[in-house]
Amino acid sequence: PPQTAQDLLATLSAEGVEFLRLQFTDILGTTKNVEVPRSQFEKALRGDVTFDGSAVEGFTRVEESDMLLSPDLSTFLIYPPFSPEDALGGRIARLICDVTLPDGAPFEGDPRFVLRRQVERARTLGFEMFVGTEPEFFLFERTAAGVGSTVTHDRAGYFDLAPIDKGERIRREITQKLVQMGFEIEAAHHEVAPGQHEIDFRYAPALETADRIATFKFVVKRVALEHGLLASFLPKPIAGVNGSGMHCHLSLFREGHNAFADPAGEHGLSATARHFIAGVLEHAGGMTAITNPLVNSYKRLVPGYEAPVNVAWSTSNRTALIRIPAKRGNSTRAEVRMPDPSCNPYLALAAMLAAGLDGIAQELEPPPAIARNIFRMTVREKRHHRIRELPADLREAVDELEKDPVVAGALGDHVMEHFVAAKRAEWREYSTTVHPWELERALDLI
Ligand code: GLN
Ligand code: MG
Ligand code: MG
Ligand code: MG
Repeated sequence: PPQTAQDLLATLSAEGVEFLRLQFTDILGTTKNVEVPRSQFEKALRGDVTFDGSAVEGFTRVEESDMLLSPDLSTFLIYPPFSPEDALGGRIARLICDVTLPDGAPFEGDPRFVLRRQVERARTLGFEMFVGTEPEFFLFERTAAGVGSTVTHDRAGYFDLAPIDKGERIRREITQKLVQMGFEIEAAHHEVAPGQHEIDFRYAPALETADRIATFKFVVKRVALEHGLLASFLPKPIAGVNGSGMHCHLSLFREGHNAFADPAGEHGLSATARHFIAGVLEHAGGMTAITNPLVNSYKRLVPGYEAPVNVAWSTSNRTALIRIPAKRGNSTRAEVRMPDPSCNPYLALAAMLAAGLDGIAQELEPPPAIARNIFRMTVREKRHHRIRELPADLREAVDELEKDPVVAGALGDHVMEHFVAAKRAEWREYSTTVHPWELERALDLI
């Protein structure tokens, strides 16, 4: 990628780019963008494009609503055409931006800044965090009018009739677009539920991975739309089948070496790895509101669907919150299985990193790794193994977040205030709504 604004201007003109999208995310993780035409490129690269922050979710600060977009030049990419019309029009490029105040100071409500602050904290301790993710999603039919549904197109039996179903074709196209955009795709496959897919991309430094998750979701939705389908990252769109998670594989590197690996340590793990794991377990309850931010998220975190419910770690068992995959050496990592793809990736990675670093700072020791299926343990056995449960719903999760100074501190006052208010409002709306289930169950009977 080009290094200086001058280089980049030259590239933009050599490549015939007509529009530049300046992107950032709001507190809830929605990608926002301001698109500028060629005449504004120089101004945009200088970081002189302003927007009204008070119109963005969680940015509200009416007294200081003018905010600036400071582009991170390393995030430059030119979008491939997503439709035949796209191919005819001018090319579109994007830059992911940091949000700054008019005096040039970073805006503390910018989720990217929240992650940068933790990355910086890790760096002062000599660590760099790498993250690989496994986002899962569903492809659903749309009605003739274009309205989304939860009807999947590859119900059982379909496979017998056609060698490749529509979903797999679309998944392949998504993969191709991502590769054109510089993603290194490690695996793309059908998931357990009908209509459910997963695409894994290569691990990278935390900030780069958070940027990529945001881009990934956009590309998946865009390609699906082109085929008349709906791609959804809702964690549990259909009751009774697997939901969609976004496992995060975390590792710390120190001077180019994996700091989690130690051939002499128990399970081949270093003290740093143990402390980090203990930190993530310690703050698991406090960070769940961030990693699993929707009312719906908690319908995925139930026993029986490969999603975690219990705060425990394991070197083998997939019912635990943290699993340590078998590979060692530079691949040594902790797979955190709780996050779902509805989270704000910047805040989620910042929360996990803060939790792990707290474990390192306090030299916390995790309880022994669990080898058994936790879903089959009795309450007494769980108590004996010091296994707690994750928050059962969004309200409990927000309560735990407010009680966790480490996670709350990592988010900062501005994000905490707006995030908690938004989530409390969401919970209030949910709990005052009368749901179809209640009527089906009792309307006739009572
Ligand atoms: N879909 C499962 C979840 O909700 C994960 C399934 C898997 O990748 N093994 O986390
Ligand atoms: Mg996977
Ligand atoms: Mg999976
Ligand atoms: Mg996994």
